[in-house]
Amino acid sequence: MSVPLLDLKPQYNALQSDFDAAVARVIGSQRFIMGPEVTGFEDEVGQYLGAEHAIGCASGSDALLLALWALDIGPGDEVITTAFTFFATAGAVSRLGATPVFVDIEPGTFNIDPAAIEAAITPRTKAIIPVHIFGLPADMGAINSIAKRHGLRVIEDAAQSIGATLHGAQTGTMGDFGCFSFFPSKNLGCWGDGGLVTSMQTDIAEVVRQLRVHGNYPKKYYHARVGMNSRLDALQAAILRVKLPHLDSWGAARRERVAGYKARLADAGIADQVVFQTVPDGSVPVYHQCVVRVPRRDDLLAHLRERNIGCAVYYPRPLHLQECFSDLGQGEGALPITEQACLEVLALPIFPELTSDHQDQVVAALKDFLG
Ligand SMILES: *Cc1c(COP(=O)(O)O)cnc(C)c1O
Repeated sequence: MSVPLLDLKPQYNALQSDFDAAVARVIGSQRFIMGPEVTGFEDEVGQYLGAEHAIGCASGSDALLLALWALDIGPGDEVITTAFTFFATAGAVSRLGATPVFVDIEPGTFNIDPAAIEAAITPRTKAIIPVHIFGLPADMGAINSIAKRHGLRVIEDAAQSIGATLHGAQTGTMGDFGCFSFFPSKNLGCWGDGGLVTSMQTDIAEVVRQLRVHGNYPKKYYHARVGMNSRLDALQAAILRVKLPHLDSWGAARRERVAGYKARLADAGIADQVVFQTVPDGSVPVYHQCVVRVPRRDDLLAHLRERNIGCAVYYPRPLHLQECFSDLGQGEGALPITEQACLEVLALPIFPELTSDHQDQVVAALKDFLG
């Protein structure tokens, strides 16, 4: 028997009749662009998150672009972020002509290190993008206080963390903007691309509303500014409205699966060799991925694949060492903790419907190698 890294079919099967009804509703209305499904989802997800403004858009990548653009970030500006993330975090900065400045992470959480942010601030620094990596909230208290002291904006990349909280606050509601992705494999995934920008501030949220429809807002055919076309599809919004009420129970199931791995690894006597993300006090993660540090990572990866255990490396190459960023001058050795993590991390199968048998098999395969 094999264990998939991620299987979306059980979730689909469980909710199939609800999806059928939602899709039929949109098709019957023949309203595919904006309209009541999109505003309905924006209202519901805004309420869920406790965000004053929730603005659907075409992808998580566009959410980051729209947020940076609304803050007028462009050529000559620097944006401090992490190199241990998906490419889009820094890609959005570069696309606007601004410069990503990568700083190191904390070894235990894999999240951006606030002390490293402080050390990288220059007169050109305009914003900080913390990423709540693998669904674990970054240290927003420290990050926001640095931002306040230096007059910087904070854009949370919450693409992996919808539903995670820090001292009761949802990720994506603690900075100036929160950016979410509904890519199918994310914890709240649609059936294609989709994204969301959140904010507590009306003035900058209104700029995002303009930018997502060619500046064609609030009055159609009158363009306040030059924007782009980046809307959330009505069909995707309808699918997300089916899934949203289940998100918290899925998050709890993911945390239970992580606890299940830890208990099994302890029983197998190999708990000290498989190191999980440390969870700071007050933080409730949603484990978009279950990423651990292991010894002899590449050999272990090959061993697990041979046993048909789905696994992956997030991320094999940090962003500061990507070819497209070579001109930034942050070469090998610039971010030692990030670089070490890239050599040691391994993602184990995790999704809400992962079974007890699956978890037994994963840990048995780990024990064969490590025991
Ligand atoms: C998925 C992801 C994005 C981009 O989202 P898309 O919807 O795929 O464009 C951005 N940042 C992080 C950290 C992500 O994981």
